[in-house]
Amino acid sequence: MKILKASFTALLCLFLLMPLPPSFAQFPSPPTTATVAFDFRQFAPYAPDFVSPWTTLGYEIGSFHTNYAGFERVLRDYAARSDRLRVFERGRTEEHRTLYTLVISAPKNLARLEAIKADASRLADPRQLSDEAAEPLIQNLPVIVWLAYSIHGNESAAFEAMLEVLYTLVASQHPTITELLDQTVVVINPCQNPDGHERFVTWYNAVGIGRPEPFAIEHREPWSIYGRLNHYLFDLNRDLVMASQVESQSAMQSFLEWHPQVCADHHGQTVNYFFPPAALPINPNLDRGQSDKWLEVFGRGNAAAFDRHGWQYYVRDVFDLFYPGYWDSWSSLNGATGMTYETDGGGWKGLNWRRDDESILTLRDGIARHFTASLATLQTAAAHRVERLRDYRAFFVRSITEGRQGPLQCVVFPPEGDAGRRQRLVETLLHQGVEVQTAKASFTLKAVHDYFGGVQPTREFPAGTLMVTLDQPRGRMARALLEPDTRQDRAFIERQLEKARRNATRGPNAPKEETEFYDITAWSLPLALDVPAYWTGSRPTVQTTPVTSVVPPAPPLPPPAKTAYVFGYTSDAEARLALRLLQEGYRLATAVRPLRAGERTYPRGSFILRTERNPETLHTRLPLLASECGVEVQSINSAYTDTGITGVGSEGVYTLRPPRIAVIAQEGVSQTSYGALWFMLSRDIGLEFTPITVETFLDLRLSEFNVLILPDGSPGAYRRAFGKEGIERLKLWCREGGTLICFGGAAAFAAHKDVDLTGARLVGEEGDAEKDGPASAPADKPGAASDEAAGAPETGSTPARYREQGRKKTTAKESQPAAEPATAATAPALGNEPLPLPGAIFRAILNREHFLTFSHEQAELPVLLTQRFFRPSKTGTNVLTIENPKPLSGFVWEGNTERFVRQTAPVIEEQIGAGHVILFADDPHYRGIWHAQRRLFLNGLIFGPTITFSTGLR
Ligand SMILES: [Zn+2]
Repeated sequence: MKILKASFTALLCLFLLMPLPPSFAQFPSPPTTATVAFDFRQFAPYAPDFVSPWTTLGYEIGSFHTNYAGFERVLRDYAARSDRLRVFERGRTEEHRTLYTLVISAPKNLARLEAIKADASRLADPRQLSDEAAEPLIQNLPVIVWLAYSIHGNESAAFEAMLEVLYTLVASQHPTITELLDQTVVVINPCQNPDGHERFVTWYNAVGIGRPEPFAIEHREPWSIYGRLNHYLFDLNRDLVMASQVESQSAMQSFLEWHPQVCADHHGQTVNYFFPPAALPINPNLDRGQSDKWLEVFGRGNAAAFDRHGWQYYVRDVFDLFYPGYWDSWSSLNGATGMTYETDGGGWKGLNWRRDDESILTLRDGIARHFTASLATLQTAAAHRVERLRDYRAFFVRSITEGRQGPLQCVVFPPEGDAGRRQRLVETLLHQGVEVQTAKASFTLKAVHDYFGGVQPTREFPAGTLMVTLDQPRGRMARALLEPDTRQDRAFIERQLEKARRNATRGPNAPKEETEFYDITAWSLPLALDVPAYWTGSRPTVQTTPVTSVVPPAPPLPPPAKTAYVFGYTSDAEARLALRLLQEGYRLATAVRPLRAGERTYPRGSFILRTERNPETLHTRLPLLASECGVEVQSINSAYTDTGITGVGSEGVYTLRPPRIAVIAQEGVSQTSYGALWFMLSRDIGLEFTPITVETFLDLRLSEFNVLILPDGSPGAYRRAFGKEGIERLKLWCREGGTLICFGGAAAFAAHKDVDLTGARLVGEEGDAEKDGPASAPADKPGAASDEAAGAPETGSTPARYREQGRKKTTAKESQPAAEPATAATAPALGNEPLPLPGAIFRAILNREHFLTFSHEQAELPVLLTQRFFRPSKTGTNVLTIENPKPLSGFVWEGNTERFVRQTAPVIEEQIGAGHVILFADDPHYRGIWHAQRRLFLNGLIFGPTITFSTGLR
């Protein structure tokens, strides 16, 4: 790339010598900045037996993007000869790349590495270590610093900076570095997202020619590349709540093993460099005094290093510490000083980027700043070693004390509801290092709260109830994940309300202020997984055993059946078994009424495999699949029913058509929505589907697929992709028996008046008959429209802001009419259209007459809503409806949300001919965290292709 740059300069010189047209001559080109003269060799001398990565790789730092194999070449070379470096392999990504933890320290520290780990672990559990014993241990212990790079694989400067940090720490003989390593154990997660990194660099290296113009193709990463996300298109810096991805699980395990006191997570690409202090809001479960103190110390340390170069940077803006699924807040909840670092050059800005003032920013600049921040962080940590270690222990001491105070001290999970989901929740807590206990006997608790706002004076729980008491070292993490609602800084909330109030008074064409919510404000795991749970302000006095893993008892295998096999339907496991059987071609039937078989009664939606209609292989395959899915199957040897009208041979039993599923995957579709669906179908269910484009779908025979899923995305992009004729063809496909399932923005597409796949309309949209005020809103929400920009981070209705590309253009509607007079009892009215929510959880009423609610016996389900509220359909069925506008968790706009969310329908089904249109107001698989609507969705796959008006059931 050096050659390219030289020839570009030569061309530029030639161009300047030529006579210029008058408009150019009048306004000479402004000066551009040269590549920063940064000295990467400032820690010389370097041990001669280590060559720099760039010598091994054959290019200069920042002139080309290094692929994963190149990094591994360098690493292998260093590992073979360094006495400062230990390399730990900790698993493989989905694309079979090795995940590493690198540990670098002075040889004398590495010689006692196991002892250091053990001592750090004792600091993190004050139950093992008295105050008196702690102090000598602290005096002798190096500070442990976790440096992580490239969690977003397309933030390329971080990866290159990692190589330079590695070389410096392994090879430099400068006293600054050797003294640093005496005091510090540096734990490096060199690339948190190798698969995303590789997609990006392979693409960029192929197409990038170093052009700085923002409109050049090298700055527009295609939809299918989008290296920010991992293989399954998850944002790994949002995954730490649920830890569904292998990269997260592996890194979290390593982090909890090493017990770092400092964690710096290297990202890109902001306008200027960002390092903490962080912005508001801050998760209230953090030790605020300690966080504030240390973020200031490390911020000042970085500032001093940056000021030496006269570099631009900012603090306390944009990047908050609220959502526990980021590495900075997650590591902070684990006692570290957790920090996000955002560099400017590289990533989507490529090798060169022309800023709006015409100055040029390079990948090399981005690397230099990350390198400087990494080294400054290590120096600050070393300089404050003893104090930082003391505070680390104090964090866990206070965590235990706080767990014995306050309204929430214990959460219990009785053996109710879906056992698989309870297992999933407990596994997640164990991954987080949270201690879970099983009660050995029954016990009673007083003042017991459920997660729907109910309180019982006393309640008895049976033996086998699982529980989390918060008086444990990870009590703060446990509270952050399990509390029903997480309190926001009041000052922050007031500021957002002020902005919204001012926006409401502005004219339709006046610019609006952005609100500062960075991410969702509700994620409480018992609600997200819809697991029955209760919390109290006391701790039970019952004998317990610690839970180390969750292995449910294997169901008994069914003996060979004469007439049929039957299994009930109450949990995800049975939905999975049903879909696997259908996929394998077995003739599976369902009873649309309660079923009587083998002297047992099964709920509606239960499954029947009739032996005379299935191949012989059923007798051997079914026990295997049932065991894999954890489902108890009953063998039936007579079709005669002892009571009732519905047996295995009844009129109310229908053979199900296997779903043949297509999913739209193309520009305009949210990669994370597509990815969460992909992961759920492939990994949780084991179900095949075909990703296709709209164009392909329209070219295919109508009968090729009987289920079409449109993930969350831009409604406008969907409308353009289908076009007028395509929409008619889609309707025809539905009428002939197709089941169309739409999430978020795709549901808004279906509800658009020109598309009209449902009688439902978005509240406040054109065509919404009950809309307050004139119908002047644009067709698409601005948030969704802005998603269509190339390289936009996340499409669709997700409220998450993109940490590096700044904020969404606006979150308030740009064409709001003037504010209407105050009408709400509790707060003055705020605008006359619904304001988008930063993710809040509501209680929705289930319509238990409908096939989408098969397997649900409860009256209500929690539902996560962001920016779209649907007016109930008058032509279809409103499967979930919201009557109570008070959220169970998360932020809502006082004076706005409660007026617009009441009597809306988050899930709607519309019968069209022999087919269905099924709308989910938000992504039902959001981030792999949200499971509460999972079976409503799966029921669309299982029953949608079969159940119609003619089955006598809607
Ligand atoms: Zn990032």
